[in-house]
Amino acid sequence: MPSHPRYREDLTRTEILALLGAGPLNRSQIAARLGLGAATVTEHTRRLVALGYIRELAPQVSGPGRPRVPLEVVADAAYTLGLRVHPTHVVGVLVRLDGSEVDRFEIPFDPADDPVSQLADACAGAFAAETGSRVRGVGVALPGVIDPTTGTVRLSPRLGWTGVPLGPALAERLPVPVLIDNDTRASTTAELLFGAGREHDDFLVLAIGDGVGMGIVLGRRVHRGPDGVAGEFGHVPVDPSGPVCVCGRNGCLEAYVADHALAARARRRGLTDRDLDLDGLLALAGAPGFAELLAETGAILGRAVAGVVNVLAVRALTVIGESHVLWPYLEPGFSAAIGAGVVAFPDLDVRVRPWDDSAHARGAASLVLAASIAS
Ligand SMILES: [Zn+2]
Repeated sequence: MPSHPRYREDLTRTEILALLGAGPLNRSQIAARLGLGAATVTEHTRRLVALGYIRELAPQVSGPGRPRVPLEVVADAAYTLGLRVHPTHVVGVLVRLDGSEVDRFEIPFDPADDPVSQLADACAGAFAAETGSRVRGVGVALPGVIDPTTGTVRLSPRLGWTGVPLGPALAERLPVPVLIDNDTRASTTAELLFGAGREHDDFLVLAIGDGVGMGIVLGRRVHRGPDGVAGEFGHVPVDPSGPVCVCGRNGCLEAYVADHALAARARRRGLTDRDLDLDGLLALAGAPGFAELLAETGAILGRAVAGVVNVLAVRALTVIGESHVLWPYLEPGFSAAIGAGVVAFPDLDVRVRPWDDSAHARGAASLVLAASIAS
Protein backbone atom coordinates (compact mmCIF):
# COMPACT_ATOMS: atom_id res chain seq x y z
CA MET A 1 0.00 0.00 0.00
CA PRO A 2 1.58 3.31 -1.02
CA SER A 3 2.17 5.68 1.84
CA HIS A 4 1.99 9.44 1.78
CA PRO A 5 5.42 10.60 0.57
CA ARG A 6 7.42 12.96 2.70
CA TYR A 7 7.27 16.44 1.29
CA ARG A 8 10.77 17.14 0.07
CA GLU A 9 12.15 20.64 0.57
CA ASP A 10 15.44 19.50 -0.94
CA LEU A 11 15.07 19.32 -4.70
CA THR A 12 18.76 18.65 -5.34
CA ARG A 13 18.37 15.32 -7.14
CA THR A 14 15.53 16.69 -9.24
CA GLU A 15 17.66 19.75 -10.03
CA ILE A 16 20.48 17.47 -11.22
CA LEU A 17 18.07 15.57 -13.49
CA ALA A 18 16.62 18.83 -14.86
CA LEU A 19 20.12 20.18 -15.50
CA LEU A 20 21.23 17.00 -17.31
CA GLY A 21 18.05 17.20 -19.40
CA ALA A 22 19.78 19.99 -21.35
CA GLY A 23 22.78 17.71 -22.12
CA PRO A 24 25.51 15.64 -20.40
CA LEU A 25 27.69 17.31 -17.76
CA ASN A 26 30.44 16.01 -15.49
CA ARG A 27 30.25 16.21 -11.71
CA SER A 28 32.34 19.35 -11.34
CA GLN A 29 30.16 21.12 -13.92
CA ILE A 30 27.04 20.08 -11.99
CA ALA A 31 28.62 21.34 -8.76
CA ALA A 32 29.43 24.70 -10.33
CA ARG A 33 26.00 25.19 -11.93
CA LEU A 34 24.05 24.32 -8.77
CA GLY A 35 26.45 25.86 -6.27
CA LEU A 36 27.03 22.51 -4.54
CA GLY A 37 30.10 20.91 -2.96
CA ALA A 38 31.87 18.06 -4.73
CA ALA A 39 30.98 15.54 -2.02
CA THR A 40 27.27 16.47 -2.22
CA VAL A 41 27.23 15.98 -5.99
CA THR A 42 29.06 12.65 -5.65
CA GLU A 43 26.55 11.40 -3.09
CA HIS A 44 23.46 12.44 -5.08
CA THR A 45 24.76 11.19 -8.44
CA ARG A 46 25.73 7.84 -6.92
CA ARG A 47 22.12 7.40 -5.82
CA LEU A 48 20.75 8.48 -9.21
CA VAL A 49 23.06 6.03 -10.99
CA ALA A 50 21.92 3.25 -8.62
CA LEU A 51 18.29 4.05 -9.48
CA GLY A 52 19.12 3.84 -13.18
CA TYR A 53 18.03 7.45 -13.69
CA ILE A 54 21.44 8.65 -14.91
CA ARG A 55 24.42 6.83 -16.44
CA GLU A 56 28.12 7.50 -16.90
CA LEU A 57 29.45 8.10 -20.40
CA ALA A 58 33.01 7.40 -21.59
CA PRO A 59 35.59 9.48 -19.68
CA GLN A 60 36.89 12.55 -21.46
CA VAL A 61 40.55 13.44 -21.21
CA SER A 62 41.24 17.13 -21.66
CA GLY A 63 44.55 18.51 -20.49
CA PRO A 64 46.28 17.44 -17.28
CA GLY A 65 44.45 15.90 -14.34
CA ARG A 66 41.98 13.09 -14.01
CA PRO A 67 39.65 12.40 -16.95
CA ARG A 68 36.14 13.80 -16.47
CA VAL A 69 33.17 11.45 -16.63
CA PRO A 70 30.12 13.00 -18.28
CA LEU A 71 26.75 11.98 -16.84
CA GLU A 72 23.63 11.57 -18.93
CA VAL A 73 20.00 11.42 -17.82
CA VAL A 74 18.09 8.26 -18.83
CA ALA A 75 14.95 10.23 -19.55
CA ASP A 76 12.61 7.28 -20.09
CA ALA A 77 13.72 5.34 -16.99
CA ALA A 78 10.80 6.72 -14.99
CA TYR A 79 7.79 8.99 -15.44
CA THR A 80 5.74 11.15 -13.12
CA LEU A 81 2.16 12.21 -13.68
CA GLY A 82 1.18 15.79 -12.87
CA LEU A 83 -2.42 17.01 -12.58
CA ARG A 84 -3.66 20.57 -12.38
CA VAL A 85 -7.13 20.77 -10.83
CA HIS A 86 -9.24 23.66 -12.07
CA PRO A 87 -12.87 24.35 -11.04
CA THR A 88 -14.12 23.09 -14.43
CA HIS A 89 -11.44 20.70 -15.71
CA VAL A 90 -8.28 18.77 -14.94
CA VAL A 91 -5.14 18.95 -17.08
CA GLY A 92 -2.72 16.05 -16.84
CA VAL A 93 0.84 15.69 -18.11
CA LEU A 94 3.01 12.58 -18.12
CA VAL A 95 6.60 13.75 -17.74
CA ARG A 96 10.01 12.12 -18.28
CA LEU A 97 12.93 12.47 -15.86
CA ASP A 98 14.34 15.40 -17.85
CA GLY A 99 11.04 17.30 -17.57
CA SER A 100 9.89 16.68 -21.15
CA GLU A 101 6.32 15.58 -21.80
CA VAL A 102 5.28 12.09 -22.90
CA ASP A 103 1.56 12.82 -22.98
CA ARG A 104 -0.97 15.50 -22.14
CA PHE A 105 -4.72 15.24 -21.59
CA GLU A 106 -7.67 17.26 -20.33
CA ILE A 107 -10.89 16.00 -18.76
CA PRO A 108 -13.95 17.81 -17.40
CA PHE A 109 -14.09 18.08 -13.61
CA ASP A 110 -16.78 18.93 -11.07
CA PRO A 111 -15.31 19.70 -7.63
CA ALA A 112 -18.69 19.04 -5.98
CA ASP A 113 -18.95 15.44 -7.25
CA ASP A 114 -16.62 12.84 -5.62
CA PRO A 115 -13.31 14.46 -6.57
CA VAL A 116 -11.21 11.44 -5.52
CA SER A 117 -12.93 9.13 -8.00
CA GLN A 118 -12.73 11.71 -10.78
CA LEU A 119 -8.99 12.23 -10.21
CA ALA A 120 -8.31 8.48 -9.90
CA ASP A 121 -10.14 7.97 -13.20
CA ALA A 122 -8.07 10.76 -14.76
CA CYS A 123 -4.90 8.83 -13.85
CA ALA A 124 -6.16 5.44 -15.01
CA GLY A 125 -5.06 5.83 -18.63
CA ALA A 126 -1.45 6.52 -17.66
CA PHE A 127 -1.26 3.36 -15.53
CA ALA A 128 -3.05 1.20 -18.12
CA ALA A 129 -0.60 2.16 -20.86
CA GLU A 130 2.34 -0.06 -21.79
CA THR A 131 4.64 2.29 -19.87
CA GLY A 132 2.34 2.37 -16.81
CA SER A 133 4.82 0.52 -14.60
CA ARG A 134 7.32 3.36 -15.08
CA VAL A 135 4.99 5.92 -13.48
CA ARG A 136 6.57 6.51 -10.06
CA GLY A 137 4.28 9.13 -8.54
CA VAL A 138 1.33 11.45 -9.03
CA GLY A 139 1.59 15.16 -8.21
CA VAL A 140 -1.56 17.26 -7.94
CA ALA A 141 -1.56 21.08 -8.10
CA LEU A 142 -4.63 22.90 -6.76
CA PRO A 143 -5.64 26.50 -6.08
CA GLY A 144 -5.88 27.46 -2.41
CA VAL A 145 -4.13 26.82 0.89
CA ILE A 146 -2.69 23.32 0.66
CA ASP A 147 -0.66 21.46 3.32
CA PRO A 148 1.58 19.13 1.32
CA THR A 149 2.96 17.47 4.47
CA THR A 150 -0.45 15.94 5.26
CA GLY A 151 -1.92 16.04 1.76
CA THR A 152 -4.81 18.19 2.97
CA VAL A 153 -6.59 20.96 1.11
CA ARG A 154 -7.05 23.36 4.01
CA LEU A 155 -9.07 25.95 2.12
CA SER A 156 -9.84 26.32 -1.57
CA PRO A 157 -12.59 28.90 -2.18
CA ARG A 158 -12.38 28.29 -5.95
CA LEU A 159 -13.03 24.57 -5.56
CA GLY A 160 -15.41 25.09 -2.64
CA TRP A 161 -13.38 22.78 -0.38
CA THR A 162 -12.38 23.12 3.27
CA GLY A 163 -10.30 20.52 5.12
CA VAL A 164 -10.33 17.87 2.36
CA PRO A 165 -7.70 15.09 2.94
CA LEU A 166 -7.29 14.64 -0.81
CA GLY A 167 -3.71 13.29 -0.84
CA PRO A 168 -4.24 10.24 1.42
CA ALA A 169 -7.65 9.47 -0.14
CA LEU A 170 -6.22 9.53 -3.66
CA ALA A 171 -3.15 7.48 -2.63
CA GLU A 172 -5.49 4.67 -1.53
CA ARG A 173 -6.82 4.47 -5.08
CA LEU A 174 -3.49 4.60 -6.92
CA PRO A 175 -0.48 2.22 -7.02
CA VAL A 176 2.09 5.00 -6.46
CA PRO A 177 2.71 7.83 -3.96
CA VAL A 178 0.63 10.99 -4.34
CA LEU A 179 1.75 14.50 -3.45
CA ILE A 180 -0.48 17.57 -3.53
CA ASP A 181 0.51 21.22 -3.36
CA ASN A 182 -0.64 24.73 -4.12
CA ASP A 183 -0.61 25.39 -7.87
CA THR A 184 1.51 28.53 -7.71
CA ARG A 185 4.12 26.72 -5.63
CA ALA A 186 4.10 23.78 -8.06
CA SER A 187 4.75 26.15 -10.96
CA THR A 188 7.44 27.89 -8.92
CA THR A 189 9.20 24.54 -8.57
CA ALA A 190 9.05 24.08 -12.35
CA GLU A 191 10.46 27.61 -12.75
CA LEU A 192 13.32 26.76 -10.37
CA LEU A 193 14.15 23.60 -12.32
CA PHE A 194 13.58 24.71 -15.90
CA GLY A 195 13.24 28.53 -15.94
CA ALA A 196 14.54 31.49 -13.90
CA GLY A 197 16.36 29.04 -11.59
CA ARG A 198 18.87 28.36 -14.35
CA GLU A 199 20.20 31.92 -13.84
CA HIS A 200 19.02 33.01 -10.40
CA ASP A 201 19.20 31.45 -6.93
CA ASP A 202 16.63 33.95 -5.55
CA PHE A 203 13.52 34.99 -7.48
CA LEU A 204 9.77 35.54 -7.31
CA VAL A 205 6.97 34.04 -9.38
CA LEU A 206 3.90 36.26 -9.75
CA ALA A 207 0.79 34.31 -10.69
CA ILE A 208 -2.11 36.38 -12.05
CA GLY A 209 -5.42 34.94 -13.15
CA ASP A 210 -8.66 34.34 -11.26
CA GLY A 211 -6.55 35.00 -8.14
CA VAL A 212 -3.15 36.45 -7.38
CA GLY A 213 -0.38 34.35 -5.86
CA MET A 214 3.34 34.53 -5.32
CA GLY A 215 6.01 31.85 -5.36
CA ILE A 216 9.17 32.66 -3.44
CA VAL A 217 12.56 31.03 -4.11
CA LEU A 218 15.42 31.93 -1.77
CA GLY A 219 18.77 30.15 -1.95
CA ARG A 220 17.26 27.67 -4.47
CA ARG A 221 14.57 26.64 -1.99
CA VAL A 222 10.85 27.14 -2.60
CA HIS A 223 9.51 28.88 0.49
CA ARG A 224 6.33 27.31 1.90
CA GLY A 225 5.84 28.69 5.37
CA PRO A 226 4.24 26.73 8.22
CA ASP A 227 1.43 24.46 6.95
CA GLY A 228 2.05 25.71 3.41
CA VAL A 229 0.41 29.10 3.89
CA ALA A 230 3.17 31.33 2.44
CA GLY A 231 2.58 33.18 -0.80
CA GLU A 232 -0.93 34.54 -0.15
CA PHE A 233 0.11 37.62 -2.04
CA GLY A 234 -3.43 38.26 -3.29
CA HIS A 235 -4.51 39.32 0.17
CA VAL A 236 -1.86 41.99 0.67
CA PRO A 237 -3.88 45.04 1.75
CA VAL A 238 -3.93 47.87 -0.80
CA ASP A 239 -6.72 50.13 0.52
CA PRO A 240 -9.03 49.36 3.47
CA SER A 241 -11.84 51.25 1.71
CA GLY A 242 -11.32 49.29 -1.53
CA PRO A 243 -13.52 46.68 -3.21
CA VAL A 244 -14.66 43.56 -1.33
CA CYS A 245 -12.33 40.56 -1.75
CA VAL A 246 -13.29 36.87 -1.95
CA CYS A 247 -11.71 36.50 1.52
CA GLY A 248 -14.31 38.88 2.99
CA ARG A 249 -11.90 41.75 3.63
CA ASN A 250 -11.83 45.01 1.72
CA GLY A 251 -9.18 46.27 -0.66
CA CYS A 252 -6.92 43.23 -1.01
CA LEU A 253 -4.62 43.22 -4.06
CA GLU A 254 -6.69 40.42 -5.58
CA ALA A 255 -9.82 42.60 -5.40
CA TYR A 256 -8.14 44.87 -7.97
CA VAL A 257 -6.09 42.49 -10.11
CA ALA A 258 -7.97 39.15 -10.44
CA ASP A 259 -9.74 38.82 -13.80
CA HIS A 260 -13.22 38.92 -12.22
CA ALA A 261 -12.15 41.96 -10.14
CA LEU A 262 -10.99 43.77 -13.28
CA ALA A 263 -14.32 42.99 -14.94
CA ALA A 264 -16.24 44.31 -11.92
CA ARG A 265 -14.16 47.50 -11.83
CA ALA A 266 -14.77 48.05 -15.55
CA ARG A 267 -18.53 47.76 -14.94
CA ARG A 268 -18.41 50.17 -11.99
CA ARG A 269 -16.59 52.71 -14.18
CA GLY A 270 -19.30 52.43 -16.82
CA LEU A 271 -16.85 51.03 -19.37
CA THR A 272 -19.10 48.05 -20.09
CA ASP A 273 -22.42 46.63 -18.97
CA ARG A 274 -21.32 43.08 -19.72
CA ASP A 275 -19.82 40.53 -17.34
CA LEU A 276 -16.46 40.15 -19.12
CA ASP A 277 -14.31 37.06 -18.89
CA LEU A 278 -10.57 37.15 -19.56
CA ASP A 279 -11.05 36.88 -23.34
CA GLY A 280 -13.54 39.77 -23.18
CA LEU A 281 -11.10 41.87 -21.16
CA LEU A 282 -8.31 41.14 -23.62
CA ALA A 283 -10.48 42.09 -26.59
CA LEU A 284 -11.20 45.50 -25.03
CA ALA A 285 -7.82 46.02 -23.31
CA GLY A 286 -6.63 48.79 -25.66
CA ALA A 287 -9.95 50.66 -25.72
CA PRO A 288 -10.27 54.09 -24.06
CA GLY A 289 -10.95 53.70 -20.37
CA PHE A 290 -9.78 50.07 -20.32
CA ALA A 291 -6.18 51.04 -21.12
CA GLU A 292 -6.19 53.45 -18.15
CA LEU A 293 -7.83 50.85 -15.89
CA LEU A 294 -5.16 48.29 -16.75
CA ALA A 295 -2.27 50.75 -16.40
CA GLU A 296 -3.58 51.76 -12.95
CA THR A 297 -3.91 48.08 -12.05
CA GLY A 298 -0.33 47.45 -13.18
CA ALA A 299 0.80 50.26 -10.88
CA ILE A 300 -1.13 48.79 -7.91
CA LEU A 301 0.50 45.43 -8.62
CA GLY A 302 3.95 47.02 -9.07
CA ARG A 303 3.78 48.84 -5.71
CA ALA A 304 2.90 45.60 -3.93
CA VAL A 305 5.67 43.65 -5.70
CA ALA A 306 8.18 46.45 -4.95
CA GLY A 307 7.52 45.93 -1.25
CA VAL A 308 8.42 42.25 -1.52
CA VAL A 309 11.48 42.94 -3.69
CA ASN A 310 12.75 45.44 -1.12
CA VAL A 311 12.28 43.02 1.76
CA LEU A 312 13.78 39.93 0.08
CA ALA A 313 16.37 41.63 -2.19
CA VAL A 314 15.49 39.40 -5.15
CA ARG A 315 16.59 40.45 -8.62
CA ALA A 316 14.22 38.47 -10.84
CA LEU A 317 10.47 37.98 -11.27
CA THR A 318 8.61 35.59 -13.56
CA VAL A 319 4.99 36.36 -14.44
CA ILE A 320 2.72 33.33 -14.98
CA GLY A 321 -1.00 32.57 -14.99
CA GLU A 322 -3.98 32.96 -17.30
CA SER A 323 -3.91 36.79 -17.09
CA HIS A 324 -0.33 37.02 -18.41
CA VAL A 325 -2.00 37.86 -21.74
CA LEU A 326 -2.91 41.26 -20.22
CA TRP A 327 0.73 41.96 -19.33
CA PRO A 328 1.42 44.36 -22.25
CA TYR A 329 -1.34 46.59 -20.79
CA LEU A 330 -0.35 46.12 -17.14
CA GLU A 331 3.37 46.51 -17.78
CA PRO A 332 3.72 50.31 -18.19
CA GLY A 333 2.17 51.01 -14.78
CA PHE A 334 3.96 48.03 -13.25
CA SER A 335 7.42 49.04 -14.48
CA ALA A 336 6.97 52.65 -13.39
CA ALA A 337 5.92 51.52 -9.91
CA ILE A 338 8.88 49.13 -9.67
CA GLY A 339 11.27 51.87 -10.81
CA ALA A 340 9.88 54.25 -8.22
CA GLY A 341 9.47 51.76 -5.40
CA VAL A 342 12.42 49.39 -5.48
CA VAL A 343 15.38 50.66 -3.48
CA ALA A 344 18.24 48.30 -4.27
CA PHE A 345 17.55 46.62 -7.65
CA PRO A 346 15.31 48.83 -9.83
CA ASP A 347 16.57 46.84 -12.84
CA LEU A 348 14.45 43.86 -11.76
CA ASP A 349 14.75 41.06 -14.36
CA VAL A 350 11.07 40.56 -15.29
CA ARG A 351 10.13 37.77 -17.68
CA VAL A 352 6.65 36.75 -18.78
CA ARG A 353 6.39 33.00 -19.20
CA PRO A 354 4.42 31.77 -22.22
CA TRP A 355 1.93 29.97 -20.09
CA ASP A 356 -0.86 27.45 -20.38
CA ASP A 357 -2.84 25.22 -18.09
CA SER A 358 -0.25 22.45 -18.15
CA ALA A 359 2.47 24.53 -16.43
CA HIS A 360 1.03 23.88 -12.96
CA ALA A 361 0.70 20.18 -13.82
CA ARG A 362 4.36 19.96 -14.90
CA GLY A 363 5.32 21.61 -11.61
CA ALA A 364 3.28 19.06 -9.68
CA ALA A 365 5.07 16.27 -11.54
CA SER A 366 8.45 17.78 -10.50
CA LEU A 367 7.37 17.89 -6.85
CA VAL A 368 6.39 14.25 -6.70
CA LEU A 369 9.58 13.25 -8.51
CA ALA A 370 11.59 15.04 -5.81
CA ALA A 371 9.63 13.22 -3.11
CA SER A 372 9.92 9.80 -4.74
CA ILE A 373 13.74 9.92 -5.08
CA ALA A 374 14.38 11.60 -1.73
CA SER A 375 15.76 8.56 0.08
ZN1 LIG B 1 -8.53 39.11 0.32
